[in-house]
Amino acid sequence: MRYSALSVFLNGLRGNTRWTPAWRDPAPQPRYDVVIVGGGGHGLATAYYLAKTFGIRNVAVLEKGWLGSGNIGRNTTIIRSNYLLPGNNPFYELSMKLWEGLEQDFNYNAMVSQRGVLNLFHSDAQRDAYTRRGNAMRLHGVDAELLDADAVRAKLPFLGFDNARFPIKGGLHQPRGGTVRHDAVAWGYARGADTLGVDVIQNCEVTGIRRENGRVTGVETSKGFIGAGKLALATAGHSSRTAAMVDMVLPLESHVLQAFVSEGLKPFIDGVVTFGAGHFYVSQSDKGGLVFGGDIDGYNSYAQRGNLATVEHVAEAGVAMIPALSRVRMLRSWGGVMDMSMDGSPIIDRTPIDNLYLNAGWCYGGFKATPASGFCFAHLIAKGEPHETARAFRLDRFRRGYAIDEKGQGAQPNLH
Ligand SMILES: Cc1cc2nc3c(=O)[nH]c(=O)nc-3n(C[C@H](O)[C@H](O)[C@H](O)COP(=O)(O)OP(=O)(O)OC[C@H]3O[C@@H](n4cnc5c(N)ncnc54)[C@H](O)[C@@H]3O)c2cc1C
Repeated sequence: MRYSALSVFLNGLRGNTRWTPAWRDPAPQPRYDVVIVGGGGHGLATAYYLAKTFGIRNVAVLEKGWLGSGNIGRNTTIIRSNYLLPGNNPFYELSMKLWEGLEQDFNYNAMVSQRGVLNLFHSDAQRDAYTRRGNAMRLHGVDAELLDADAVRAKLPFLGFDNARFPIKGGLHQPRGGTVRHDAVAWGYARGADTLGVDVIQNCEVTGIRRENGRVTGVETSKGFIGAGKLALATAGHSSRTAAMVDMVLPLESHVLQAFVSEGLKPFIDGVVTFGAGHFYVSQSDKGGLVFGGDIDGYNSYAQRGNLATVEHVAEAGVAMIPALSRVRMLRSWGGVMDMSMDGSPIIDRTPIDNLYLNAGWCYGGFKATPASGFCFAHLIAKGEPHETARAFRLDRFRRGYAIDEKGQGAQPNLH
């Protein structure tokens, strides 16, 4: 069933009794050409592009929980392509272009809202660094503009401009950045893939990977054995655990990242704003709540909840950026498990094991990458060759010394 204004109207006339489920609830087949482990944004997008762009439809996505239970339904919904380094820049811009046509493409309202992303700077040195990044973006055809303090004040007069330690001197703005409703992205890709014949199987945990003569032949699951021509891992924060099923150790650590939402307020922030002097970023949801977050919790964990020290740290940085925030009540917070890589950049690659493909290392920036990640991973699985924009994200770059360290932090996953 295609969604359109006309179908909403006609179904309304019929008492909304004729809508069909957005996707089927199929029992697993004994074997698929491609099995994708992980029904998050990346796994579902991969299935969608495999079916739609590369014509491979005998595909299953196996999700241990429900769709949206992982990071795809837990993130702070920000999309942007404001990267400096050559490996990252074209890839995230491909993603931005895919976001721009996504809702028409998969026929689902994901509330793509290009309301702008503004990175504040607070010192001359930081302005130089942001200018360099903005120039790199423009050289790659990405939109960027440098705003001085007056221009930022005109947009956001309530910021703490005269903070004694961190005065706001301006910001790097990407007007095409913004937000997308995160769980709708999972639902849209699931529905799109299902329509093209992909089996999206929920409550199906992969517990083991079967190999014969060095080749992967399928997976043991809570619903029995499922054979696979090719096996693709897209398990985000659990990547180390699924890789361990084939004795593979990945250059990843798992850490918790928290997000927060406040009580509903009248509209006052129309875009995304990030603090340059501490770990804090904020946008306002359509319901009026401030959606914000900060840095990851500083220890390794697989628990989908955070600790109070980080709550305090984030709130402190938030009040430094917007003093009036001290009067706002926080409604709730939650956590997701991040697959933090050693250089802060992702991995989209074949593994040394035949038939086994890996999509991981998204750190806390993988939501914005969802369309490009799915597209490039599907390209790799279908053609056996990396897509040109994802060539830098090879697994062996750590051995070869070609790390893509956007933040320049070194091999410190908790700092990326
Ligand atoms: C609080 C928070 C804020 C964030 N904010 C942003 C942001 O603003 N912008 C941005 O770009 N990124 C952001 N991110 C990061 C982004 O959400 C992730 O990088 C991205 O969602 C990861 O890819 P995914 O959607 O495929 O992951 P997930 O949704 O986590 O998908 C992985 C799936 O694999 C499943 N799985 C794991 N093991 C198994 C198994 N053995 N068998 C079957 N299934 C399994 C899991 O249940 C899960 O559903 C944020 C993350 C968090 C937690």
